Amino acid sequence: MALKERVFSGVQPTGNLHLGNYLGAIVKFVALQERYDCIYCVVDLHALTQPMSIWGGPTGLASNTREVTAAYLAAGIDPKKHIVFNQSQVHEHSELAWIFNCVARMGWLGRMTQFKDKAGKDRENASVGLFTYPNLMAADILVYRATHVPVGEDQKQHLELSRDIAQKFNNDFGTSILAHGHGDTFFPLPEPLIRGAATRVMSLRDGTKKMSKSDASDYSRINLTDDADAIAQKIRKAKTDPEPLPHEEKGLEHRPEADNLVGIYAALADTSRAQVLAQFGGAQFSAFKAALIDLTVGKLAPLNAEMRRLIADPAYIDHVLADGALRAQRIAAETMKAVKDIVGFVHR
Ligand code: ATP
Ligand code: MG
Repeated sequence: MALKERVFSGVQPTGNLHLGNYLGAIVKFVALQERYDCIYCVVDLHALTQPMSIWGGPTGLASNTREVTAAYLAAGIDPKKHIVFNQSQVHEHSELAWIFNCVARMGWLGRMTQFKDKAGKDRENASVGLFTYPNLMAADILVYRATHVPVGEDQKQHLELSRDIAQKFNNDFGTSILAHGHGDTFFPLPEPLIRGAATRVMSLRDGTKKMSKSDASDYSRINLTDDADAIAQKIRKAKTDPEPLPHEEKGLEHRPEADNLVGIYAALADTSRAQVLAQFGGAQFSAFKAALIDLTVGKLAPLNAEMRRLIADPAYIDHVLADGALRAQRIAAETMKAVKDIVGFVHR
């Protein structure tokens, strides 16, 4: 049976929204609205998998949730034509995640690099939720039977796991899926959309580490709430090497910091690394950084101002989220009803 094409993606309300989230995810979310029905979620249940100091505890969670919502809206996501909501308002995500906890295998989750990175050396002390995170992510996507998922490069492995879960469910329950009139597959195998010049924005302090909300150094990232001075200072201090910029992309190999700054420039200017190097090849970093500061401030200042305006009106943001949750739940509830029939649960 042909499934409707639908986009789903999310961002965690863990504070410090940064340029990587913007270029790797939010800019893509905006562009996809033209072609698809889109569902964009603030994944607050996921935030709880990390220590409370990261997601802000009961007082920080609400403001972080509103901040991500404000970034969605300020970037140009239309909450009327599409759906914007926070995950915990649609309980079907958790319900399907439990079923997926029983479909996914320990061995599959044991291979996830995000768990290894985030749990670090103190694995015994990581939350169980951090380990089963990818099952909830699969549920987020598949409760809407979404077909396309725009994410940054770091989420590729989790997307592959979502596909494995969808496939195993379709196989394990194949006879029941057919008997209930869904043909030979119930869940689509969701496709990751990982494209463009900034699928993996790196830390400004270390070109081999992903720019991340949870990095202890604020100089490692450009926050979407940074003002022009902060942006300029962070870019000026960004780590580089002593060579001028190369004329061709090949010259960026083994120069992670140069590659990162050129990638950021290309993504912000909506062009390619090759084009940026055609313009700046041979330039010193001081000149390139000055151009990058102008470009970044020019792009982020209006976003920043609009985010501030929206955050000052929490009642409006909460209304957007409630309206989105209502519409999301209609779709999710229909999927869960079908899943319950397929699995064999007795239900109302
Ligand atoms: P955390 O460290 O709490 O996991 P995060 O910065 O990874 O925070 P998420 O909310 O987990 O943010 O991710 C939201 C989206 O942003 C995902 O699609 C993810 O792939 C993307 N993303 C995160 N960091 C980067 C980055 N450095 N470059 C490009 N995309 C990124
Ligand atoms: Mg992340």
